[in-house]
Amino acid sequence: MKADAFRFDGRTPCDLSKLPTDAGGEKGKKDEYAAKTAANLRRMEALQEALYADGREGLVILLQALDAAGKDGTIKHVMGGLNPQGVTVYNFKQPTRAELQHDYLWRVGQCLPPRGGIAIFNRSYYEDVLVVRMHGLQKTYRMADRVLEDDETFFRKRYRQIRHFEEYLYENSFRVVKIFLHVSKAEQKERFLERIDTPEKNWKFSAADIAERARFDEYNDLYSQVITETASKHAPWYALPADQKWYTRYLVSEVVADALEQCAPAYPRVDAAARAEMQKARRQLLAED
Ligand code: AMP
Ligand code: MG
Repeated sequence: MKADAFRFDGRTPCDLSKLPTDAGGEKGKKDEYAAKTAANLRRMEALQEALYADGREGLVILLQALDAAGKDGTIKHVMGGLNPQGVTVYNFKQPTRAELQHDYLWRVGQCLPPRGGIAIFNRSYYEDVLVVRMHGLQKTYRMADRVLEDDETFFRKRYRQIRHFEEYLYENSFRVVKIFLHVSKAEQKERFLERIDTPEKNWKFSAADIAERARFDEYNDLYSQVITETASKHAPWYALPADQKWYTRYLVSEVVADALEQCAPAYPRVDAAARAEMQKARRQLLAED
């Protein structure tokens, strides 16, 4: 399967309940996909070098998912091969006091990459239309009454703000690619049990995860809406099956490599005068004793 099969660019609505969480007919092809992933990682590496040298476009890859869907592992295995010089990873946690005193995009601005760079967002401003809505947090953040309308109006406005923000970035030579790791409730249970049963993984588990799990379907419905409302041609969403890690990693490597390719990075061309200058330097170097 190509990752494009899971792409949403605003033309069709997203309904996660109808989309696969597992590898389906590809299940028996783990080795084949591991080889494809390795090839994609090499493609990513080469393209990143060119993106960095080119310095004309920046890329934001953001990952959203329910707990234990594999965001951390994906970042480690898929992004681990990139040159650290051109990549930063940001984890968006519960906002700090200072962050809460600002608009929700304030902290995002500080994490955007320079042109030529890649920023990976482990969670993102999408939490501000997901967890915030599920828990009614907008009502607990200090804001004027005039902005705290009913949920429907308040979050419709946020969808619009996010669409505009991503369009603004695109028009300023940045691309945003959004990945949702779509895990099943049964697989999440297995991964939670593993976190509880493996001492080295205990730190990843929090009792709050169980409370969130109780609203698993509600979350997926809200994700469907968020993806539908914010997918666009220039900032697409990918809803990738996440029950088999090897398959997810392949799909993510494909999405990232394709996104880098779309930036069409090219090494800066050196003009004739600079080339002549280099030849002079070359002669000088060779003349040294
Ligand atoms: P983790 O990713 O497991 O380290 O947890 C980070 C937690 O921060 C998650 O439960 C997120 O839902 C939460 N979080 C991230 N951004 C926000 C936000 N804007 N408002 C409230 N909670 C958030
Ligand atoms: Mg967590």
